[in-house]
Amino acid sequence: MVLSLIESARNVERRSVEDILFKARECRGLNLEEVACLLNIEDEEQLNLLYETAKYVKNRVYGKRVVLFAPLYTSNECTNNCLYCGFRRDNKELHRKTLTKEEIINEAKEIEGQGHKRILLICGEDPQKTNVKHITSSMELIYKNTNIKRINVETAPMKVEEYRQLKEAGIGTYVIFQETYNREVYKKMHPVGLKSDYDYRITAIDRAFEAGIDDVGVGALLGLYDYKYEVLNLLTHCMSFEKKYGVGPHTISVPRLRPALGWGLKEIPYPVCDSDFKKIISIYRLAVPYTGIILSTRESPELRDELLSLGVSQISAGSKTNPGGYKENDQKADQFEVSDHRSLSKVLATICDKGYIPSFCTACYRRCRTGEAFMEYAKEGEIHEFCQPNAILTFKENLLDYGDQSLNKLGSELIEKALEEIQDDKMKELVKEKLIEIEKGKRDIYF
Ligand code: SAM
Ligand code: SF4
Repeated sequence: MVLSLIESARNVERRSVEDILFKARECRGLNLEEVACLLNIEDEEQLNLLYETAKYVKNRVYGKRVVLFAPLYTSNECTNNCLYCGFRRDNKELHRKTLTKEEIINEAKEIEGQGHKRILLICGEDPQKTNVKHITSSMELIYKNTNIKRINVETAPMKVEEYRQLKEAGIGTYVIFQETYNREVYKKMHPVGLKSDYDYRITAIDRAFEAGIDDVGVGALLGLYDYKYEVLNLLTHCMSFEKKYGVGPHTISVPRLRPALGWGLKEIPYPVCDSDFKKIISIYRLAVPYTGIILSTRESPELRDELLSLGVSQISAGSKTNPGGYKENDQKADQFEVSDHRSLSKVLATICDKGYIPSFCTACYRRCRTGEAFMEYAKEGEIHEFCQPNAILTFKENLLDYGDQSLNKLGSELIEKALEEIQDDKMKELVKEKLIEIEKGKRDIYF
Protein backbone atom coordinates (compact mmCIF):
# COMPACT_ATOMS: atom_id res chain seq x y z
CA MET A 1 0.00 0.00 0.00
CA VAL A 2 2.77 2.39 0.96
CA LEU A 3 4.58 1.78 -2.35
CA SER A 4 1.48 2.62 -4.37
CA LEU A 5 1.00 5.79 -2.32
CA ILE A 6 4.53 6.89 -3.19
CA GLU A 7 3.97 6.04 -6.87
CA SER A 8 0.63 7.81 -7.23
CA ALA A 9 1.98 10.89 -5.47
CA ARG A 10 4.79 11.25 -8.01
CA ASN A 11 2.96 13.32 -10.57
CA VAL A 12 1.00 15.50 -8.24
CA GLU A 13 0.44 19.03 -9.44
CA ARG A 14 2.19 21.96 -7.91
CA ARG A 15 -1.13 23.34 -6.78
CA SER A 16 -1.89 20.23 -4.68
CA VAL A 17 1.35 20.53 -2.75
CA GLU A 18 0.51 24.14 -1.98
CA ASP A 19 -2.97 23.12 -0.81
CA ILE A 20 -1.54 20.48 1.51
CA LEU A 21 0.90 22.97 3.00
CA PHE A 22 -1.91 25.46 3.47
CA LYS A 23 -3.97 22.83 5.30
CA ALA A 24 -0.95 21.86 7.45
CA ARG A 25 -1.01 25.36 8.95
CA GLU A 26 -4.18 24.40 10.82
CA CYS A 27 -1.95 22.14 12.97
CA ARG A 28 -4.34 19.23 12.70
CA GLY A 29 -1.93 16.80 11.06
CA LEU A 30 -1.88 15.17 7.61
CA ASN A 31 -3.09 11.89 6.15
CA LEU A 32 -0.81 9.36 4.42
CA GLU A 33 -1.67 10.50 0.88
CA GLU A 34 -0.73 14.05 1.81
CA VAL A 35 2.50 12.87 3.42
CA ALA A 36 3.36 10.86 0.28
CA CYS A 37 2.92 14.01 -1.84
CA LEU A 38 5.23 16.02 0.38
CA LEU A 39 7.84 13.25 0.40
CA ASN A 40 8.05 13.53 -3.38
CA ILE A 41 8.91 17.24 -3.37
CA GLU A 42 12.22 17.88 -5.15
CA ASP A 43 11.73 21.39 -6.45
CA GLU A 44 13.68 23.98 -4.46
CA GLU A 45 10.88 26.51 -4.31
CA GLN A 46 8.47 23.91 -2.95
CA LEU A 47 11.05 22.66 -0.48
CA ASN A 48 11.42 26.19 0.84
CA LEU A 49 7.65 26.46 1.20
CA LEU A 50 7.67 23.16 3.12
CA TYR A 51 10.36 24.48 5.48
CA GLU A 52 8.46 27.74 6.00
CA THR A 53 5.31 25.81 6.89
CA ALA A 54 7.20 23.54 9.30
CA LYS A 55 8.71 26.62 10.98
CA TYR A 56 5.24 28.12 11.36
CA VAL A 57 3.78 24.96 12.91
CA LYS A 58 6.79 24.41 15.17
CA ASN A 59 6.50 27.93 16.46
CA ARG A 60 2.74 27.78 16.94
CA VAL A 61 2.74 24.47 18.82
CA TYR A 62 6.03 24.64 20.73
CA GLY A 63 6.96 28.30 20.78
CA LYS A 64 10.68 28.87 21.17
CA ARG A 65 11.40 26.04 23.61
CA VAL A 66 13.95 23.23 23.31
CA VAL A 67 14.07 20.38 25.83
CA LEU A 68 17.49 18.91 26.69
CA PHE A 69 18.58 15.46 27.81
CA ALA A 70 21.59 13.12 27.82
CA PRO A 71 21.87 9.38 27.14
CA LEU A 72 23.31 7.06 29.78
CA TYR A 73 24.63 3.77 28.40
CA THR A 74 24.68 1.15 31.16
CA SER A 75 26.12 -1.66 29.00
CA ASN A 76 27.48 -2.36 25.52
CA GLU A 77 27.17 -6.13 25.86
CA CYS A 78 24.82 -7.57 23.28
CA THR A 79 23.79 -10.99 22.01
CA ASN A 80 22.36 -9.60 18.76
CA ASN A 81 24.35 -8.95 15.64
CA CYS A 82 22.69 -5.91 14.04
CA LEU A 83 25.03 -5.24 11.14
CA TYR A 84 25.00 -1.46 11.56
CA CYS A 85 25.82 -1.31 15.27
CA GLY A 86 29.18 -1.14 17.03
CA PHE A 87 27.79 -3.17 19.96
CA ARG A 88 26.99 -6.21 17.77
CA ARG A 89 28.05 -9.58 19.07
CA ASP A 90 30.68 -10.25 16.38
CA ASN A 91 32.54 -6.99 16.92
CA LYS A 92 35.67 -8.35 18.56
CA GLU A 93 37.38 -4.95 18.64
CA LEU A 94 34.87 -3.47 21.08
CA HIS A 95 35.81 -3.09 24.73
CA ARG A 96 32.82 -4.69 26.48
CA LYS A 97 31.49 -3.28 29.71
CA THR A 98 28.43 -3.42 31.94
CA LEU A 99 28.48 -0.73 34.60
CA THR A 100 28.47 -1.65 38.27
CA LYS A 101 25.99 -0.01 40.64
CA GLU A 102 28.61 2.48 41.70
CA GLU A 103 29.53 3.29 38.10
CA ILE A 104 25.87 3.87 37.19
CA ILE A 105 25.54 6.37 40.03
CA ASN A 106 28.80 8.05 39.02
CA GLU A 107 27.74 8.39 35.39
CA ALA A 108 24.35 9.82 36.39
CA LYS A 109 26.11 12.28 38.70
CA GLU A 110 28.43 13.35 35.87
CA ILE A 111 25.41 13.99 33.66
CA GLU A 112 23.67 15.84 36.47
CA GLY A 113 26.85 17.84 37.02
CA GLN A 114 26.55 19.21 33.47
CA GLY A 115 23.10 20.54 34.43
CA HIS A 116 20.81 17.86 33.00
CA LYS A 117 17.59 16.70 34.69
CA ARG A 118 16.54 14.14 32.08
CA ILE A 119 18.28 10.91 31.13
CA LEU A 120 17.72 8.38 28.38
CA LEU A 121 18.84 5.00 29.72
CA ILE A 122 20.18 2.71 26.97
CA CYS A 123 21.92 -0.66 26.72
CA GLY A 124 22.59 -3.62 24.46
CA GLU A 125 20.38 -6.71 24.67
CA ASP A 126 21.84 -9.46 26.82
CA PRO A 127 19.28 -11.55 28.76
CA GLN A 128 21.83 -12.28 31.49
CA LYS A 129 23.35 -8.82 31.93
CA THR A 130 20.86 -6.20 30.73
CA ASN A 131 17.50 -7.75 31.64
CA VAL A 132 14.60 -5.86 33.19
CA LYS A 133 16.10 -6.25 36.68
CA HIS A 134 19.28 -4.49 35.50
CA ILE A 135 17.20 -1.64 34.07
CA THR A 136 14.83 -1.14 37.00
CA SER A 137 17.65 -1.28 39.53
CA SER A 138 19.62 1.26 37.45
CA MET A 139 16.58 3.54 37.52
CA GLU A 140 16.18 3.13 41.25
CA LEU A 141 19.85 3.95 41.83
CA ILE A 142 19.65 7.09 39.71
CA TYR A 143 16.40 8.41 41.20
CA LYS A 144 17.68 7.74 44.72
CA ASN A 145 21.17 9.17 44.39
CA THR A 146 20.79 12.15 42.05
CA ASN A 147 18.51 15.03 41.20
CA ILE A 148 17.64 13.52 37.83
CA LYS A 149 13.86 13.83 37.62
CA ARG A 150 12.94 11.90 34.52
CA ILE A 151 14.39 8.67 33.14
CA ASN A 152 13.29 7.62 29.66
CA VAL A 153 14.27 4.09 28.67
CA GLU A 154 15.35 2.69 25.30
CA THR A 155 15.65 -1.08 25.35
CA ALA A 156 14.92 -4.26 23.50
CA PRO A 157 11.28 -5.44 23.39
CA MET A 158 9.89 -6.97 26.58
CA LYS A 159 6.93 -8.93 27.91
CA VAL A 160 3.92 -7.11 29.37
CA GLU A 161 4.94 -8.11 32.88
CA GLU A 162 8.41 -6.63 32.35
CA TYR A 163 6.95 -3.35 31.06
CA ARG A 164 4.86 -3.25 34.23
CA GLN A 165 8.08 -3.31 36.20
CA LEU A 166 9.44 -0.38 34.16
CA LYS A 167 6.23 1.51 34.88
CA GLU A 168 6.54 0.83 38.60
CA ALA A 169 10.16 1.96 38.56
CA GLY A 170 9.04 5.37 37.25
CA ILE A 171 9.76 5.29 33.52
CA GLY A 172 9.17 8.55 31.60
CA THR A 173 8.94 7.59 27.92
CA TYR A 174 9.54 4.07 26.59
CA VAL A 175 11.52 4.36 23.34
CA ILE A 176 11.99 1.66 20.73
CA PHE A 177 13.02 2.04 17.09
CA GLN A 178 11.72 -0.45 14.55
CA GLU A 179 14.99 0.31 12.64
CA THR A 180 13.40 -0.55 9.26
CA TYR A 181 9.80 -1.31 8.33
CA ASN A 182 10.93 -3.40 5.35
CA ARG A 183 10.80 -7.05 6.46
CA GLU A 184 13.45 -8.23 3.99
CA VAL A 185 15.92 -5.54 4.93
CA TYR A 186 15.10 -6.16 8.60
CA LYS A 187 15.96 -9.84 8.18
CA LYS A 188 19.26 -9.03 6.49
CA MET A 189 20.27 -6.47 9.11
CA HIS A 190 19.33 -8.66 12.08
CA PRO A 191 20.60 -12.08 11.09
CA VAL A 192 20.64 -13.74 14.52
CA GLY A 193 19.54 -13.32 18.11
CA LEU A 194 16.32 -12.20 19.76
CA LYS A 195 16.14 -9.06 17.65
CA SER A 196 15.72 -11.06 14.44
CA ASP A 197 11.98 -11.39 15.22
CA TYR A 198 10.38 -8.46 13.34
CA ASP A 199 6.89 -9.10 14.72
CA TYR A 200 7.97 -9.26 18.35
CA ARG A 201 9.62 -5.86 17.90
CA ILE A 202 6.80 -4.11 16.09
CA THR A 203 4.30 -5.23 18.76
CA ALA A 204 6.50 -4.01 21.65
CA ILE A 205 4.59 -0.73 21.88
CA ASP A 206 1.28 -2.61 22.20
CA ARG A 207 2.66 -4.58 25.16
CA ALA A 208 3.98 -1.38 26.74
CA PHE A 209 0.49 0.17 26.48
CA GLU A 210 -1.06 -2.99 27.92
CA ALA A 211 1.28 -2.60 30.89
CA GLY A 212 0.08 0.96 31.45
CA ILE A 213 2.97 2.88 29.87
CA ASP A 214 1.29 5.63 27.88
CA ASP A 215 4.28 7.72 26.76
CA VAL A 216 6.03 5.92 23.92
CA GLY A 217 8.67 6.97 21.40
CA VAL A 218 9.31 5.47 17.97
CA GLY A 219 11.87 5.82 15.17
CA ALA A 220 13.28 4.38 11.97
CA LEU A 221 17.03 4.17 11.54
CA LEU A 222 17.47 6.37 8.46
CA GLY A 223 19.93 4.95 5.94
CA LEU A 224 18.89 1.29 6.00
CA TYR A 225 16.20 1.61 3.32
CA ASP A 226 14.27 4.16 1.21
CA TYR A 227 13.32 6.99 3.58
CA LYS A 228 9.94 7.57 1.92
CA TYR A 229 8.93 4.00 2.66
CA GLU A 230 10.16 4.28 6.25
CA VAL A 231 8.37 7.57 6.99
CA LEU A 232 5.03 6.34 5.62
CA ASN A 233 5.27 3.02 7.45
CA LEU A 234 6.30 4.64 10.70
CA LEU A 235 3.27 6.94 10.52
CA THR A 236 1.05 3.95 9.68
CA HIS A 237 2.43 2.16 12.74
CA CYS A 238 1.65 5.22 14.91
CA MET A 239 -1.88 5.48 13.54
CA SER A 240 -2.52 1.83 14.34
CA PHE A 241 -1.60 2.11 18.01
CA GLU A 242 -3.31 5.50 18.33
CA LYS A 243 -6.51 3.86 17.05
CA LYS A 244 -6.15 0.97 19.50
CA TYR A 245 -5.06 2.81 22.64
CA GLY A 246 -6.22 6.37 22.00
CA VAL A 247 -2.69 7.80 22.21
CA GLY A 248 -0.20 8.55 19.46
CA PRO A 249 3.57 8.60 19.93
CA HIS A 250 4.91 11.04 22.51
CA THR A 251 8.09 11.34 20.45
CA ILE A 252 9.56 10.40 17.09
CA SER A 253 13.35 10.11 16.89
CA VAL A 254 15.26 10.64 13.67
CA PRO A 255 18.46 8.59 14.07
CA ARG A 256 20.54 8.75 10.88
CA LEU A 257 22.96 5.87 10.38
CA ARG A 258 26.56 6.70 11.33
CA PRO A 259 29.74 4.72 10.77
CA ALA A 260 30.67 2.55 13.74
CA LEU A 261 33.94 0.87 14.64
CA GLY A 262 33.64 -2.84 13.82
CA TRP A 263 30.22 -2.64 12.19
CA GLY A 264 29.23 -5.32 9.67
CA LEU A 265 28.46 -2.99 6.76
CA LYS A 266 30.77 -1.73 4.02
CA GLU A 267 28.75 1.40 3.51
CA ILE A 268 25.43 3.00 4.38
CA PRO A 269 22.87 1.17 2.17
CA TYR A 270 20.53 4.12 1.49
CA PRO A 271 22.33 7.32 2.53
CA VAL A 272 20.00 10.17 3.45
CA CYS A 273 21.48 13.52 2.40
CA ASP A 274 21.04 16.66 4.53
CA SER A 275 18.37 18.06 2.24
CA ASP A 276 16.25 14.89 2.48
CA PHE A 277 16.85 14.82 6.23
CA LYS A 278 15.47 18.35 6.53
CA LYS A 279 12.51 17.30 4.42
CA ILE A 280 11.81 14.29 6.68
CA ILE A 281 11.85 16.38 9.85
CA SER A 282 9.61 19.05 8.33
CA ILE A 283 7.11 16.43 7.18
CA TYR A 284 6.97 14.73 10.59
CA ARG A 285 6.33 18.14 12.13
CA LEU A 286 3.36 18.73 9.84
CA ALA A 287 2.00 15.16 9.96
CA VAL A 288 1.95 14.90 13.78
CA PRO A 289 2.21 18.46 15.13
CA TYR A 290 1.88 17.45 18.79
CA THR A 291 4.52 14.73 18.79
CA GLY A 292 7.97 15.73 20.01
CA ILE A 293 10.82 15.24 17.53
CA ILE A 294 14.13 14.13 19.03
CA LEU A 295 17.50 14.84 17.46
CA SER A 296 20.71 13.29 18.79
CA THR A 297 24.38 14.19 18.57
CA ARG A 298 24.65 11.89 15.53
CA GLU A 299 24.23 15.17 13.61
CA SER A 300 26.70 18.04 13.19
CA PRO A 301 26.42 21.23 15.29
CA GLU A 302 25.54 23.36 12.24
CA LEU A 303 22.75 21.08 11.06
CA ARG A 304 21.38 20.62 14.59
CA ASP A 305 21.14 24.36 15.06
CA GLU A 306 19.26 24.70 11.77
CA LEU A 307 16.87 21.83 12.47
CA LEU A 308 15.61 23.42 15.67
CA SER A 309 13.50 25.81 13.65
CA LEU A 310 12.10 23.12 11.35
CA GLY A 311 10.50 21.00 14.00
CA VAL A 312 12.92 19.41 16.42
CA SER A 313 11.71 19.88 20.00
CA GLN A 314 14.18 17.81 22.06
CA ILE A 315 17.92 17.39 21.69
CA SER A 316 20.61 15.48 23.50
CA ALA A 317 23.77 17.38 24.38
CA GLY A 318 27.20 16.60 25.77
CA SER A 319 26.52 12.92 24.97
CA LYS A 320 28.73 9.84 25.24
CA THR A 321 27.68 6.58 23.56
CA ASN A 322 29.84 4.19 25.58
CA PRO A 323 29.17 2.84 29.07
CA GLY A 324 31.22 4.84 31.55
CA GLY A 325 31.98 7.50 28.93
CA TYR A 326 31.15 10.54 31.06
CA LYS A 327 33.83 9.68 33.58
CA GLU A 328 36.37 8.14 31.25
CA ASN A 329 36.11 8.21 27.49
CA ASP A 330 37.06 4.96 25.77
CA GLN A 331 36.33 5.33 22.05
CA LYS A 332 36.79 1.61 21.55
CA ALA A 333 33.57 1.11 23.52
CA ASP A 334 31.36 3.49 21.47
CA GLN A 335 28.15 2.47 19.75
CA PHE A 336 28.74 4.83 16.81
CA GLU A 337 30.62 8.03 15.98
CA VAL A 338 29.08 11.18 17.44
CA SER A 339 29.21 14.37 15.30
CA ASP A 340 28.37 17.06 17.83
CA HIS A 341 31.02 17.05 20.55
CA ARG A 342 30.02 20.36 22.16
CA SER A 343 29.50 20.51 25.90
CA LEU A 344 26.00 21.19 27.26
CA SER A 345 26.94 24.77 28.15
CA LYS A 346 28.19 25.45 24.59
CA VAL A 347 24.96 24.03 23.17
CA LEU A 348 22.97 26.20 25.58
CA ALA A 349 24.83 29.31 24.45
CA THR A 350 24.01 28.56 20.81
CA ILE A 351 20.36 27.86 21.61
CA CYS A 352 20.14 31.23 23.38
CA ASP A 353 21.93 32.98 20.51
CA LYS A 354 19.24 31.71 18.17
CA GLY A 355 16.52 33.10 20.44
CA TYR A 356 15.35 29.71 21.76
CA ILE A 357 14.79 29.02 25.41
CA PRO A 358 16.37 25.82 26.78
CA SER A 359 14.05 23.79 28.99
CA PHE A 360 15.00 21.30 31.70
CA CYS A 361 11.37 20.73 32.54
CA THR A 362 10.20 17.32 33.75
CA ALA A 363 6.80 18.47 35.01
CA CYS A 364 4.37 16.67 32.68
CA TYR A 365 5.29 13.24 33.85
CA ARG A 366 5.33 14.28 37.50
CA ARG A 367 1.97 16.05 37.18
CA CYS A 368 0.50 13.02 35.37
CA ARG A 369 0.15 14.95 32.11
CA THR A 370 1.08 11.86 30.08
CA GLY A 371 -0.55 9.83 27.33
CA GLU A 372 -4.08 10.92 26.49
CA ALA A 373 -4.08 13.69 29.11
CA PHE A 374 -0.93 15.18 27.56
CA MET A 375 -2.37 14.99 24.04
CA GLU A 376 -5.55 16.75 25.16
CA TYR A 377 -3.61 19.61 26.71
CA ALA A 378 -1.35 19.78 23.68
CA LYS A 379 -4.12 19.74 21.12
CA GLU A 380 -6.04 22.45 22.95
CA GLY A 381 -2.89 24.56 22.85
CA GLU A 382 -2.91 24.61 26.67
CA ILE A 383 0.49 23.06 26.85
CA HIS A 384 1.94 26.51 26.18
CA GLU A 385 0.41 27.66 29.45
CA PHE A 386 2.62 25.32 31.43
CA CYS A 387 5.57 24.74 29.16
CA GLN A 388 6.75 28.29 28.60
CA PRO A 389 6.70 29.16 32.36
CA ASN A 390 8.35 25.83 33.21
CA ALA A 391 11.06 26.40 30.62
CA ILE A 392 11.77 29.82 32.13
CA LEU A 393 11.89 28.48 35.70
CA THR A 394 14.05 25.44 34.94
CA PHE A 395 16.46 27.44 32.78
CA LYS A 396 16.80 30.02 35.56
CA GLU A 397 17.77 27.24 37.99
CA ASN A 398 20.24 25.89 35.46
CA LEU A 399 21.85 29.32 34.99
CA LEU A 400 22.22 29.89 38.73
CA ASP A 401 23.58 26.40 39.43
CA TYR A 402 25.73 25.74 36.37
CA GLY A 403 26.02 28.85 34.16
CA ASP A 404 29.20 30.83 33.62
CA GLN A 405 29.22 34.62 33.37
CA SER A 406 28.61 34.94 29.66
CA LEU A 407 25.84 32.31 29.59
CA ASN A 408 24.21 33.98 32.58
CA LYS A 409 24.10 37.30 30.76
CA LEU A 410 22.74 35.78 27.57
CA GLY A 411 20.25 33.61 29.46
CA SER A 412 18.95 36.40 31.69
CA GLU A 413 18.17 38.58 28.66
CA LEU A 414 16.35 35.69 27.06
CA ILE A 415 14.33 34.99 30.19
CA GLU A 416 13.22 38.64 30.27
CA LYS A 417 12.03 38.35 26.68
CA ALA A 418 10.31 35.02 27.26
CA LEU A 419 8.50 36.45 30.30
CA GLU A 420 7.05 39.23 28.18
CA GLU A 421 5.71 36.66 25.75
CA ILE A 422 3.48 35.07 28.43
CA GLN A 423 0.01 36.29 27.46
CA ASP A 424 -1.80 35.70 30.73
CA ASP A 425 -0.95 38.57 33.14
CA LYS A 426 -1.71 36.49 36.24
CA MET A 427 0.63 33.73 35.10
CA LYS A 428 3.30 36.30 34.26
CA GLU A 429 3.18 37.69 37.80
CA LEU A 430 3.27 34.19 39.26
CA VAL A 431 6.35 33.31 37.22
CA LYS A 432 8.07 36.55 38.35
CA GLU A 433 7.39 35.63 41.99
CA LYS A 434 8.75 32.13 41.46
CA LEU A 435 11.87 33.50 39.78
CA ILE A 436 12.54 35.51 42.94
CA GLU A 437 12.09 32.36 45.05
CA ILE A 438 14.62 30.57 42.82
CA GLU A 439 17.07 33.46 43.24
CA LYS A 440 16.68 33.04 46.99
CA GLY A 441 17.67 29.38 46.69
CA LYS A 442 14.43 27.46 46.24
CA ARG A 443 14.60 24.67 43.63
CA ASP A 444 12.47 22.31 41.58
CA ILE A 445 9.59 24.74 41.12
CA TYR A 446 7.17 23.94 38.32
CA PHE A 447 3.55 24.17 37.22
N1 SAM B 1 19.77 -2.46 22.06
C1 SAM B 1 18.46 -1.93 22.07
C2 SAM B 1 17.81 -2.07 20.73
O1 SAM B 1 18.52 -2.34 19.78
O2 SAM B 1 16.62 -1.88 20.68
C3 SAM B 1 18.51 -0.50 22.57
C4 SAM B 1 18.79 0.56 21.62
S1 SAM B 1 20.32 0.61 20.70
C5 SAM B 1 21.58 0.71 21.89
C6 SAM B 1 20.02 2.27 20.20
C7 SAM B 1 19.67 2.55 18.78
O3 SAM B 1 20.84 3.03 18.16
C8 SAM B 1 19.22 1.43 17.89
O4 SAM B 1 17.85 1.19 18.03
C9 SAM B 1 19.61 1.92 16.51
O5 SAM B 1 18.53 2.55 15.86
C10 SAM B 1 20.66 2.99 16.78
N2 SAM B 1 21.94 2.67 16.14
C11 SAM B 1 22.60 1.51 16.15
N3 SAM B 1 23.73 1.60 15.41
C12 SAM B 1 23.77 2.84 14.90
C13 SAM B 1 24.67 3.54 14.04
N4 SAM B 1 25.74 2.96 13.54
N5 SAM B 1 24.39 4.83 13.73
C14 SAM B 1 23.30 5.44 14.23
N6 SAM B 1 22.41 4.84 15.04
C15 SAM B 1 22.63 3.55 15.37
FE1 SF4 C 1 22.59 -4.73 20.22
FE2 SF4 C 1 20.80 -2.74 20.02
FE3 SF4 C 1 23.21 -2.58 18.85
FE4 SF4 C 1 21.45 -4.27 17.90
S1 SF4 C 1 21.23 -2.00 17.96
S2 SF4 C 1 23.64 -4.73 18.27
S3 SF4 C 1 20.43 -4.91 19.74
S4 SF4 C 1 22.80 -2.64 21.00
